[in-house]
Amino acid sequence: MRQYVWWHSGYDRLCHAFSTRQASAAYFEAACTHSVPPEYVVRERSGTLCVPCLVEVGSTMEEDHAWRG
Ligand SMILES: [Zn+2]
Repeated sequence: MRQYVWWHSGYDRLCHAFSTRQASAAYFEAACTHSVPPEYVVRERSGTLCVPCLVEVGSTMEEDHAWRG
């Protein structure tokens, strides 16, 4: 089961969904494959939500049924 956090990217000023398990420490990759170095990530949910991330997270939740808790 994947879990996501919504973090603000200083690159495109959108709020992306980042997996809590990142493959690399050199950069963070969002659900929409937007990648951003850690120093450009603002760890708070601010700004406009990235629509491709919303779609990706939504479809993942549907597959996993994670929303049932
Ligand atoms: Zn995104």
